[in-house]
Amino acid sequence: MRFGIRTLDELSVRGKTVLCRVDINQPVDRDAGTLKSINRITACVPTIRELCGKGAKVVLLAHQGSDIEYKNFYTTKPHAAVLSSLLGKEVKWIDDVCGPAARDMIRGLHDGEVLLLDNVRFVAEEQTLFEKNLRLSHEQQAKTLLVQKLAPLADLYVCDAFAAAHRDQPSLCGFEQVLPSAMGRLFEKEYCTVSSVMEHPERPCVFVLGGAKISDAFQMMQTVLERGIADTILTGGLVANIFLIALGSEIGNGSRAFIFKSNYSEFFDRAKELYAKFGDKIKLPSDLAWVENGERREAAIELMPENVTAIDIGHATADAYRTCILHAKTVFVNGPMGIFEQEPSEYGTKELWRALADTEGFTVLGGGDSITATEKYQLTDKIGYICTGGGALIRFLSGEELPVVKALRHGSLISEA
Ligand code: ADP
Ligand code: MG
Repeated sequence: MRFGIRTLDELSVRGKTVLCRVDINQPVDRDAGTLKSINRITACVPTIRELCGKGAKVVLLAHQGSDIEYKNFYTTKPHAAVLSSLLGKEVKWIDDVCGPAARDMIRGLHDGEVLLLDNVRFVAEEQTLFEKNLRLSHEQQAKTLLVQKLAPLADLYVCDAFAAAHRDQPSLCGFEQVLPSAMGRLFEKEYCTVSSVMEHPERPCVFVLGGAKISDAFQMMQTVLERGIADTILTGGLVANIFLIALGSEIGNGSRAFIFKSNYSEFFDRAKELYAKFGDKIKLPSDLAWVENGERREAAIELMPENVTAIDIGHATADAYRTCILHAKTVFVNGPMGIFEQEPSEYGTKELWRALADTEGFTVLGGGDSITATEKYQLTDKIGYICTGGGALIRFLSGEELPVVKALRHGSLISEA
């Protein structure tokens, strides 16, 4: 047991049917029916290989598509093909989640075989709306269709989906109420790495915080500052723009309009409070960049023109941040410094990501877009640890107990038959 949760070392899986929840949610090219990245699929291969290698009948549960934009839901069929080639053995697939066809297929599995079910989010109970508005308890989640139909066919439940560990949904928290449970190897590695960085960071410990997950970012900043985990926070992206405007800087009407339109102005008070308390630790950009007629332009904060939208940090800020990263012993990164997807506004992110590669400090990076930037600049093997989770990582660093961790602790106390 680690953190009160069973690992795969403590399960005997031979001949057993194991439900294994993975997070293989990837960007999809809908027209071509293919996946644009396979990094999360690759990351859960060790767990699947170990389970089938030990003679388990492995049933994989996974989602594809954000549960906030339902139109993004997509089948897991392409994932099965990718998994087959990564594992070097056939991964069966069925266009059903927990209906009679899926259940027949599970009953027919032989030892060592792997079956991937279709997108669990096709089942209505697997939704954030339910999570937020209905707030199903874990006991109630155990009574949902998915768990009622699949648990009786299974002996064990394994969760390897650290990237979804902040979700309170039946496929993630329901099975642990009724089946002996454990975390998979990826979950174990992510949880241990992130916990140890959080508990005993080598100092100085620097947080690089950009991007657009504002509410989570503010919660996390507060926790890591109050607990003395972060020595310095380097802000960029929308996080920095919110601080700057809250503290009275004029950084262009476009920047201001965007923040009001997105209702991020409600974080102004929080930004002011945090800065009043921890201003020596929170670094804000001294210059910003915008794009005019396709060209990049920059100015110091005091000299920002009226009618622009700040979409990247400037050169002076990037230089200062780079120096700070090079002197750090631990660097935690979530969220790009600007709209790095477009060439004129990629400089800040590109420069800082290079600093992450150059620093001797241990770097931990998470978040879908942050990982995309790492791949874009071909720095994947230069980062100390890349966490598949973004939301889960940030929520974890906010000091909250993750719903899946809580559920796994419960399922770790259920004895194997
Ligand atoms: P991650 O996926 O790494 O957790 P987020 O999803 O929080 O990061 O934020 C990434 C997104 O934020 C990117 O799509 C990027 O273009 C956008 N972004 C960064 N800086 C700005 C900015 N100044 N204005 C608008 N969008 C920004
Ligand atoms: Mg993102």
